[in-house]
Amino acid sequence: MARRGSNSMRPMNHRLNRREFVKTTTAGVAATASLSAAQTTVNAQAPAVISSKSAKPIVISSANGNFHKNGGTKTCVETAFTQMLEGTDVLEALIAGVNVVELDPEDTSVGYGGLPNADGVVQLDSCCMHGPKKRAGGVAALEGVRTPSKVAHAVMESTDHHLLVGKGAQDFARNMGFTIEADLNTERSRKAWLEWKRQTDPKHYLRPQDRKTSARLDNQGILRKLIAEGVIPARHYWGTINCNGVNSKGELCGVTTTSGLAWKIPGRVGDSPILGAGLYVDGTVGAAGSTGRGEANLFNLSSYLVVEMMRQGKHPKDACLEALRRIRANTIEKRLRKSNGDPNFNITFYAINARGEHAAVAMYAEDDNEIGWAGQTQGRRVRYAVCTENGAATLNCEGLIPGALQDNA
Ligand code: ASP
Repeated sequence: MARRGSNSMRPMNHRLNRREFVKTTTAGVAATASLSAAQTTVNAQAPAVISSKSAKPIVISSANGNFHKNGGTKTCVETAFTQMLEGTDVLEALIAGVNVVELDPEDTSVGYGGLPNADGVVQLDSCCMHGPKKRAGGVAALEGVRTPSKVAHAVMESTDHHLLVGKGAQDFARNMGFTIEADLNTERSRKAWLEWKRQTDPKHYLRPQDRKTSARLDNQGILRKLIAEGVIPARHYWGTINCNGVNSKGELCGVTTTSGLAWKIPGRVGDSPILGAGLYVDGTVGAAGSTGRGEANLFNLSSYLVVEMMRQGKHPKDACLEALRRIRANTIEKRLRKSNGDPNFNITFYAINARGEHAAVAMYAEDDNEIGWAGQTQGRRVRYAVCTENGAATLNCEGLIPGALQDNA
């Protein structure tokens, strides 16, 4: 599906020789590298802060991007990085990468086999942004297509719009030649939904082995039980893949794709398909995306905030920390806070700038437990994936708050 773009092929050991970092803000922040009139645009509406004619090519993603291979030989970040270096358009390379995860039934947070909504229907969200082209597309609550990121890309390339939802998104996909399937559940995701249903509606959905008990659990209790019984992986109540990349020309793109919050109210749309929330890319500045509690991200439009912080000269790590501080400060509802006042959810940002500098920062540096699926955590540390000319690696995320969500609960 990915087509070769016009980018020239770069050797794996290509060295940077024309890196330029141009920093201008209306507040007059000092430039950190040489400026020329041609490179610098002073525009009060949208100050261009970083421009790069060459960059260190890199692809980053949530940790599931360096775990699943869908029976093939490459993970998401490896696929994307390889295609990017071969000259494929950056966004098409990233989408080819996330397709690996969307199609892999083992990842129950994305695409085919994603955990369904409260009605047992898999509804998928995705969006993508192309930095150099300044284009974007998204789909929300899409049913029946295993690769919503490709449909988001088709919205970007073949419509005047940025977001199609529900039946309209599905009709569009059908008209664009995508196969529409009646059900994207796998046996695993369907069984997980059935277990959830039996726990939450025990008067109607009987669990044969529990017929003699009357115990009822609250939502957290149900979740813990399903995780403990191995019905769902710990990280997959929430789960998504965000993948961002920059090639040696400094061309930046990003994509986010998800099945969203498990057991969500049918029609619920999270942050993942919303430009500025689950993903934001400014081709002259950077790209940022997110996984975790979508509602917190929707409220704060945090990916946009991360990019704006990078525009003002912040390193990706500091930009992500700033967004997490904003979310923490805006989380005032008691039901969303632990007894010490901190958020009772985790959320992670992944960011790169136009020079290829990157970071991933989570609200909590560690996960609640060690039973998350392999690759997503090491011990309890929240992880993210990176692929450079040195190969793919899964690294520890930074954290705004040390420790795990459950500590000092
Ligand atoms: N952010 C996604 C959503 O809220 C879920 C996740 O990343 O875990 O739909």
